[in-house]
Amino acid sequence: MIPNIIFIAFLLAAILLFYKNVSVISRNIKIGKDINLSDNKIKRWKLMFKVTIFQSKMVSRPISGILHIFVYVGFIIVNFEMLEILFDGISGSHRLFSFTGPIYTILISTFEFFALSVIIACIIFLARRNLFKVKRFWNKEMTLWPRSDAAIILITEVFLMSAILIMNASDSILQERAVDHYVKVGSFPLSSLLIPFLNGLPTNTLIFLERFGWWFHIIGVLAFLNYIPYSKHFHVFLAFPNVYFSRLEPTGKMSNMPCITKEVKLMLDQTVESQPDEENSEEVVFGAKDVKDLTWKNLMDSYTCTECGRCTSRCPANITGKQLSPRKIIMDVRDRLEFLSNRNTRKNLINKKSLFDFIQAEEIWACTTCNACAIECPVNIEPLSVILEMRRYAVLEDASAPAPLNTMFTNIENNGAPWQFSPEDRMLWAEDLDVPLLADKFNSGEKPEYLFWVSSAGAFDDRYKKVIREFVKILTYLKVDYAVLGTEEIDSGDVARRAGNEMLYQMQAMMNIEIMNGYEVKKIITCDPHDYNTFKNEYPEFGSNYEVIHHSQFLQEMIREGRINITNGGFKNKKITFHDPCYLGRANGEYQAPRDVLNAIPSEKVEMKRHKSFAICCGAGGGQMFKEAEKGDKEIFIERTEEAIETGADIIATACPFCMTMMTDGIKYKNKEEEMKNYDIAELVSISLNL
Ligand code: SF4
Ligand code: SF4
Repeated sequence: MIPNIIFIAFLLAAILLFYKNVSVISRNIKIGKDINLSDNKIKRWKLMFKVTIFQSKMVSRPISGILHIFVYVGFIIVNFEMLEILFDGISGSHRLFSFTGPIYTILISTFEFFALSVIIACIIFLARRNLFKVKRFWNKEMTLWPRSDAAIILITEVFLMSAILIMNASDSILQERAVDHYVKVGSFPLSSLLIPFLNGLPTNTLIFLERFGWWFHIIGVLAFLNYIPYSKHFHVFLAFPNVYFSRLEPTGKMSNMPCITKEVKLMLDQTVESQPDEENSEEVVFGAKDVKDLTWKNLMDSYTCTECGRCTSRCPANITGKQLSPRKIIMDVRDRLEFLSNRNTRKNLINKKSLFDFIQAEEIWACTTCNACAIECPVNIEPLSVILEMRRYAVLEDASAPAPLNTMFTNIENNGAPWQFSPEDRMLWAEDLDVPLLADKFNSGEKPEYLFWVSSAGAFDDRYKKVIREFVKILTYLKVDYAVLGTEEIDSGDVARRAGNEMLYQMQAMMNIEIMNGYEVKKIITCDPHDYNTFKNEYPEFGSNYEVIHHSQFLQEMIREGRINITNGGFKNKKITFHDPCYLGRANGEYQAPRDVLNAIPSEKVEMKRHKSFAICCGAGGGQMFKEAEKGDKEIFIERTEEAIETGADIIATACPFCMTMMTDGIKYKNKEEEMKNYDIAELVSISLNL
């Protein structure tokens, strides 16, 4: 009777304490701004099953992925045995479910198999972290506590699972000795391997071992339950809702700021619809200064982070030695929340007044917005979303953006391009080419099938102007019905948005849409993946409805239809490697179109070590093109060029103006201009067709 009362008291205390801890975390998450993520329930359920139950993202790294699956499945399955332990503990019975006969033997044998798998996997995990010192577990944010936290959990799991095996082995011997209370259920395949070591022990010692194993397991599990709300292991609960509430939009789409839209519309004399709750709304903060300015999903992300460091190990800024680590961004958000709710009382946090005291400017401005972190995260966390909100605060509220970015903003405002060129010069690239203007066609009653969006880089960057010219030659060769906006084209605003200047972005977006809608544009082709992404995924929120096509997709289609057929062997003896642009690949899932284009060109193709979703950024995105890189071991473009050089390729093929600049600079930096060239895929097609 007394053990039953002690057991029930432990159980109730553990459940109450757990409830209290979870309530604090739930309150912390709810201080975030509201965001509606309740749409598309079927898609959300499917995603949750795929990512959490089937662990689809874990297996991208097969060793740790498979080991994690063993721990995850093992932990769930073994804890079914907890049900029996609970009933036995409350009722004073022993092996209550043994009445199921052979089914019981099968169940317990299965539990034992998984218990052993968990033990082996945890020992390998411990060795990887502490003996082989896998780099991502030793970054600077992995201070003593996060490292100890991981070790505590892994060691606890080894002990908990061992306790089950020792308990079962002792139980089997006690049954054989027909000791009172030990019902006959036989032995189990794995724990029976321990019997030869225990058989010589006196009965009392075996009873002690069996009871110790039983109590150790249940107390261990209840203690574990109350430890995990303080640990990264809270992801065992939160991974499910966190993935369910993932953003379902394309990765490259950045969140809108409706409060800015209203101001921009007023500036542009457009109609503004009043919001019903406007009068009661609190003072609006643009971007995020502190955790309360982030969404509840951002805050839930921070409690779901497993601190695995997969994001950081793929982050181009971190790979090249910069301060930015996406894992640290997420851990900092959680530390700030924990400090505000008095659950983290570390002295060094006392003088920190906002998120900016946790995350330095150097970190947020080093991000290329490449989205490698989000794609890699096994529980769909988006560090970039926090970085972007902090950039927005720095630009719109604090006026603390790096000076070169401010210059870029001013150029867009004044010249319609991020550089200091006159808008009148936007068509200089087309000198001596017969390029139709949309205004001329429209005024003569024609509506061309495509608007060819030249982009700021296409209009003003000397190297990319050549690409645009070659692409236009292809359009002419194919007799495509197209036109350009000419001097009516202004920058898409993509770079302004990614650098935090949402006001400027929305102004550019609304002005461009007004012009394009005025010409009844239906289809846009562009060579710039950044503009492709923003037109396709972000402009529709401001009233556009265009079919947007990247030039790689257009060329792919022409090849498929047989309208482009390359037989010329101009590149026959050349080896070509392709650098995936982040805003075509990760942001929009388009990896195949440029490869199909290259495959249509007789030549040898070779992939870089990191390609497709694993490709590292060229280093130009997120506004980096317009500022000095943050301090680090090397520049990102050098890292990427070195990877291309490793392949032994003669040509780096690109499909983005920024990637082209970076790869060209990389080739120059490595003094490889003789051996290696950088071409856009449009140039490779045009040269092959002798245009
Ligand atoms: S978006 Fe890219 S650069 Fe930015 S934190 Fe993530 S991985 Fe790093
Ligand atoms: S954000 Fe995701 S990938 Fe990065 S450490 Fe946390 S769980 Fe791992």
